[in-house]
Amino acid sequence: MKQTLAILKPDCLQRNLVGKVIDRIEENGFEISGMKMIKMTKEQAEGFYAVHQGKPFFAELVEFMTESPVVVAALRKENAVQAWRDLMGATNPENAAPGTLRKEYAESIGRNTVHGSDSDANATREIAFFFSESDLILTQKG
Ligand code: ATP
Ligand code: MG
Repeated sequence: MKQTLAILKPDCLQRNLVGKVIDRIEENGFEISGMKMIKMTKEQAEGFYAVHQGKPFFAELVEFMTESPVVVAALRKENAVQAWRDLMGATNPENAAPGTLRKEYAESIGRNTVHGSDSDANATREIAFFFSESDLILTQKG
């Protein structure tokens, strides 16, 4: 089993879509191995998205991710990184496939409802950014 990091972004919580997104996560066979609601600080958002530093949308991205709370979750599944990205859909909702979360719920390329890790290595880094190892030892299957 692999893991990936999901973030339900501020626009998701602002529009009361948390339940709907978690429903889709569960329906699609992910095991939730950690989950919490946090308000990201500017420093956390800058650190988390450090790979995008210098890009034209970086300041807007940090501003958005810190405007109100998010839900961070570690998800476990076979090929978790790709499976979660498939369920999220393309970054820009205009390009997202029908049935994906971003097609259904994203407001724009910036306010796009969910985040997912883009590789196993980044998933490990991103999960460790928000969770300690002892947070993740529980499994729903006992
Ligand atoms: P995420 O990392 O959030 O899962 P992604 O991997 O699909 O999304 P990235 O290229 O990593 O896309 O961009 C990170 C985030 O930055 C995007 O999800 C989006 O919120 C924002 N972003 C990316 N490109 C733009 C853009 N051109 N204008 C505004 N915001 C953007
Ligand atoms: Mg990304």
